[in-house]
Amino acid sequence: MPRIARVVPEVSLDRAFDYEIPAELESKVTLGAKVRVPFRSREIVGYVIEFPEQSEVSKFKAITEVFGAGAFLPPILIELAQWMAGYYCAPLTVALMSVLPKAVRRADAAFKQRLWIASLTDTLPEEAAQAMKNARAQMKAWEYLQQNGPGWLADLTEIAGAAAWRGLAERNLISIEARTQERDPFSHASAAESTPHILNDEQKAAMSAIRTELDEERPRVVLVRGVTGSGKTEIYLQAIAEVLSRGKSALVLVPEIALTPQTVEHFRSRFIGRKVGVAVLHSHLSAGERHDQWQQIRAGRARIVIGARSAVFAPLENLGIIVVDEEQEHSYKQEESPHYHARDVAVMRGHLERVVVVLGSATPSLESYHHAREGKYRLVELHQRVEEGEMPVTHVLDIRSIKKGDAPVLLAPRLVEAIQARLDRHEQAIIFLNRRGYSSSLQCPQCGQVEMCPNCSVALTYHRRAAKLRCHLCDFSSAVPHACPQCGFAPYKYAGSGTEKVEQALVDAFPTAQIARMDSDNMRGKDAYAKTLGDFADGKIDLLVGTQMIAKGLHFPRVTCVGVINADLALQIPDFRASERVFQLLMQVSGRSGRGEVRGEVFVQTRVPFHPAIQFARHHDYVGFAEQELGFRRSLHYPPYERFILITARGRNEEKTQFVIEQLAKEIEKLHLPETEITGPSLAPIARIEERYRFQIFLRTKRITAVTPRLRPLLMDRAWPDDTRITIDVDPVDLL
Ligand code: ADP
Ligand code: ZN
Repeated sequence: MPRIARVVPEVSLDRAFDYEIPAELESKVTLGAKVRVPFRSREIVGYVIEFPEQSEVSKFKAITEVFGAGAFLPPILIELAQWMAGYYCAPLTVALMSVLPKAVRRADAAFKQRLWIASLTDTLPEEAAQAMKNARAQMKAWEYLQQNGPGWLADLTEIAGAAAWRGLAERNLISIEARTQERDPFSHASAAESTPHILNDEQKAAMSAIRTELDEERPRVVLVRGVTGSGKTEIYLQAIAEVLSRGKSALVLVPEIALTPQTVEHFRSRFIGRKVGVAVLHSHLSAGERHDQWQQIRAGRARIVIGARSAVFAPLENLGIIVVDEEQEHSYKQEESPHYHARDVAVMRGHLERVVVVLGSATPSLESYHHAREGKYRLVELHQRVEEGEMPVTHVLDIRSIKKGDAPVLLAPRLVEAIQARLDRHEQAIIFLNRRGYSSSLQCPQCGQVEMCPNCSVALTYHRRAAKLRCHLCDFSSAVPHACPQCGFAPYKYAGSGTEKVEQALVDAFPTAQIARMDSDNMRGKDAYAKTLGDFADGKIDLLVGTQMIAKGLHFPRVTCVGVINADLALQIPDFRASERVFQLLMQVSGRSGRGEVRGEVFVQTRVPFHPAIQFARHHDYVGFAEQELGFRRSLHYPPYERFILITARGRNEEKTQFVIEQLAKEIEKLHLPETEITGPSLAPIARIEERYRFQIFLRTKRITAVTPRLRPLLMDRAWPDDTRITIDVDPVDLL
C-alpha cells in the first residue's frame, strides 16, 4: 500500500477521504497540512487529519499540491475538532471549519501589501528645490516626511495627494515600496507598563492553588469564585506571568461584550516588558485583521491571546494556561452548528494538552460549581473586595403595593429619592431594565387584540422615538395603527415598559440630570458604545439607563446607586435556568454599585419579593442559592445531574415540518437509547420565527457519551423533505 493521508475536504460532508502521498510531496504532507486533491470531477482543498495504516479503498487518487510549509492546523486542533464533531453531533467538516477561521481558509488570504514611503536623503538638493518651487504639494509632502519620518502611503495621502508622492519618487528623493503590514486591531492603545499588585491573602491562596496545578502532570481545572472587585483579573495576570516565565503561552477568553480596548490594554500593558506579543481575536475584526492575528499566533509571534468564544481555537502551541473569565456567560455558547460551548471546549482542550484551565466568576454556572463540589475541579474562593471595599446594601421594593391610582408606577418613590440624593452628591446611578423599546406590546382594551409579528409568534414592541412597532426576533417593523385593526376601537393601550419609557420617566423625574440610554437600538456601532461609556466614566453623564449591555464587567467608581426596574421579566421565561439567570444578573448589576470609596446601594423592583433568586442575591449569598437550586435540579433530573439534547425542526409549512419531526422521533425511539427519556415532539415555546414553524424533541439522559454516537448517524448528511431544517443542540442554553 502507498503512504496514505486521510483528508477532510472543505465541502459539507461528514467524511474523510484517503489519498496517496506522492513521493515528491512526502516531506511536506504533515498532520494538519492544507492540500489540494482531486474530488469527483474537480479539485478541492482539504486538510490532512490522519495517516492511516489501512484503508477501506484500494485505488487511490494522489494529493496534487501542499499549501505553505509545515502543518497548517496544529494537530491539537484537529483532535479538538474531532471531539467536537462527536460530542456535539456535528459533521466533521463543520467542526473543522469552525476551528479554522474563514479569513485564514480563503484562497486569497494573505498579509496585506501596502505602499511604504521613506526618504532617500536628508537634504534637498539645490536643483530639486528650484524645480519644486511651483510644486507646492510636493514641497509640503517632502517637509512632512523630513519632520515625521517614513510611513504608509494610505496615511500620508492626508498630507498630500498620491501624485505629489509619486512626483517626489520620480525626482529620486523618496522610495515607494510594497511591504506587508500586519493589521493590528488595537494598534492605537497607549504603551505604559503596569506593575503587578502585591497580592492579599485570599489572592495568594488562589495563586498557590494555580501554581500547584501548573506543576501537575495532569492538572485539574481551577474554579475561582470571587466576588466582583475581589481581584480575579490580577490573579489571571500573575498566573500568566508565571506561565510565560516557564516559556509557555497563554489563552484568555472573555465574553464578547467585555472584550473592550481597555480589557486588552490591561493585559498588554502588563506584558510590554516581555516583548511577547498579545493577539486579539473576536467577531468584530475585519477578515484581514483576523487573518493577520491568526498567522501571528500560528507563527509563535504572539504568545498571549485574548478573545471571545471562537478564540478557544487559537492556534497557540506550547500552551501553558487557559483562562475563561465570566465562565457562566451564555455568550460562550455558539448558537449554530456545531453548537459548542467555549468554556466546555476550553476544559477539553486543557485536558488534551494537559494544561491548567482557570474558570473565573463571581457567580459560577451551577454546572461548574457542581464539578467543584464533587472534587472534579479545584475550588478557590475570594470573599473580600480588594482594599476592604464593602458590598452594596440591597433593598427589595415590592411594586405591587406602590400604585398611582390604577397604574403601576415605573420608578418607586424610594428609588427616585435615592437617585436624587446621589445626584446631589455628584455621584452616578445606573438604571437597568432588560427590555428595549418603549412598551412591550400594544393591546386593544376593547377586544384584547395584541399586535403580533406576521413572521414570528411574538408581540411587536412599540418604539416611541422611531414611532414604529418592531419585532425583536426578525427586525420586522410597521407603522403604529391608529385604531385596532380587529374591532376599530381607537385609543390603544400600551402594556409593559422598555428602556425607552424608563428613560422618559427619568427625564421627567430629574430634569437637570444628564441621562443616557444604552441598548442595542441606539448602540449599533461599537464607537457609540465606547463613546457613551467614556462619557459616563468622565462624569459627563449622571444617569445611565440600559439593558444587560450595561450590567456586565464595567468598573465605574462613582456609581453608588443601581436600580433594577423589573427583576421579574426574566423569571417568566419558560427555561429551567431562569432563576439562575436572574440571580446572576442581580449579583452582577449590584457589583456595579459602590466600587469606589463610597458604599453603594441597590434597589430591586419586583412583584415577587420573596423569590429565592432575589432573596439570595440580596444577601450576596451565592452558596445558599447554589445549594438550594442544585437540590431542585437533582430532584427534577436536570443538568448538571443529567444532560439535555434539543432537536429542532424548522420549516415554512407547519404540517410538513411536524411530519418530519414525528418521523425522526420514531427513529429515535427505535434506537432504545440507554437511560434516556424522550419528550415531544411538540411546538417550541416560540412556535414561529422568521416565517418558520419550530418543533422540538427533548432528550434527557444520564449517558450523554453513549447517546450522541448513536444519534449522529440519524442526522448526518441527510436531506430532509420540503426544505425542513433539523438542528441538534447538545447541552442547549437557549431552550426557546
Ligand atoms: P475582579 O476581576 O475580581 O472584579 P479586579 O481584578 O478587576 O477584580 O480588581 C479590582 C480592582 O482592584 C482593580 O482596579 C485592580 O487593579 C485592583 N487590585 C487587584 N488586586 C489588588 C491588590 N492585591 N492590591 C491592590 N489593588 C488590587
Ligand atoms: Zn418577527
